[in-house]
Amino acid sequence: VDNGRDKEAIISYRKKHLGKTLSLSYQQPLKIVRGQGAYLFDESGQPYLDMVNNVCHVGHCHPKVVAAGQAQLAKLNTNTRYLHDNIVDYAEKLLATMPEELSVCMLVNSGSEANELAFRLARCYSQSKELLVVDGAYHGNTNACIEASPYKFNGPGGEGPQPHIHTVALPDPYRGPFTGNTPETARAYAASVQETIDSLAKQDKKPGAFICESLQGVAGQIIMPDGYLSMIYEKVRAAGGVCIADEVQVGFGRVGSHMWAFETQQVVPDIVTLGKPIGNGHPMAAVITTQAIADAFVTGMEYFNTFGGNPVSCAIGSAVLAAIKEDKLQENALQTGNYFKDKLLELQLTFELIGDVRGLGLFLGVELVEDRESKQPATEKTAWLVEYFKQHHILLSTEGPFYNILKIKPPLAFSIVDADKFITVLKSGLSALLSADQVKTRH
Ligand code: PMP
Repeated sequence: VDNGRDKEAIISYRKKHLGKTLSLSYQQPLKIVRGQGAYLFDESGQPYLDMVNNVCHVGHCHPKVVAAGQAQLAKLNTNTRYLHDNIVDYAEKLLATMPEELSVCMLVNSGSEANELAFRLARCYSQSKELLVVDGAYHGNTNACIEASPYKFNGPGGEGPQPHIHTVALPDPYRGPFTGNTPETARAYAASVQETIDSLAKQDKKPGAFICESLQGVAGQIIMPDGYLSMIYEKVRAAGGVCIADEVQVGFGRVGSHMWAFETQQVVPDIVTLGKPIGNGHPMAAVITTQAIADAFVTGMEYFNTFGGNPVSCAIGSAVLAAIKEDKLQENALQTGNYFKDKLLELQLTFELIGDVRGLGLFLGVELVEDRESKQPATEKTAWLVEYFKQHHILLSTEGPFYNILKIKPPLAFSIVDADKFITVLKSGLSALLSADQVKTRH
């Protein structure tokens, strides 16, 4: 039983005292008081299947992660200026999951901080501040990250691109200028990046870095055409820039087939940024890079981070890596994800509204359209479905520039039974929308 404040009191306090842009999910916001596995519980004990939280990756309040944090918190928490086993143990384990070239690990506290540091590393190495970013992308909330995020600088309240920012086309095989997942599509998108590099060269400039999520999250749960990243990496490197893979949303086995999503594109980035799932909800993040780039950052200026790499965070990080292995979560992402995607593809055969089903592992997107020819986004119906799912105790978010994509990114402690639950509700929701449409056309 929850004896805390009532919902209205919390809402009015938030509005007045917690910043004016702190948004809430749902028309009637939920008060959530407990989490376990892939489920959240409200103040009256009602369970909700959580298909939104890609942070509590190994399951909400995973007992071993909680125990590791509690034990270390009770013993010592301090900064990295003393010798401690945890940071070295953790770095060793994390680096063991990466390609050999990526052998330096810097620990920070959030995905934004990781990208912020990645930009600094890239700039020291390449000696250029010109940054190539993918349209629609989001990379974090700090000044440099907002500048690198077309989703923000081109969105409400945004100030447009800064002069050193160069936006390249979003390689969207469904809605983009070049469609289909083929080598030709990848080549066409790559050619447009080459144009950007060429136009920089005409101004005697070169790309300092190219940042790209290994699968596009905020831009719309998009799987890039095969070969896209390797072509771009080659072009960016040939022009003197470094390649940053933002794995904040998509790393740690979510794609199922691999631990890191960049592996699905057969590339080795120069810098990888990690966040969200890394601490299962504990605020921590990391930047992984090569010896050469780490060497270039030795400019005489110290990089110090008060909290980054502390013994508690490292104990938690190690417990998360262990849980991914012990609970076979990458395997589960693959099996459950494949099963789930097949079921969604089956529904697409029945419901015209489903324009596209895509994704890898437990990173899936269902794009809803009013018409398959024009691909007119079914934005209102998508929002209606999210509320409908809530009524059926399933939490879900939307994504993409038109908010017409159902975004599926549950904790990896998500089962086939959970997938079936979702499919049943999606089917009944889509049927309800269909009959409402039929009533409308009859009148
Ligand atoms: N990169 C990506 C791809 C993200 O999705 C996010 C967060 N949504 C960030 C970076 C920023 O991470 P954080 O909110 O931890 O600063």
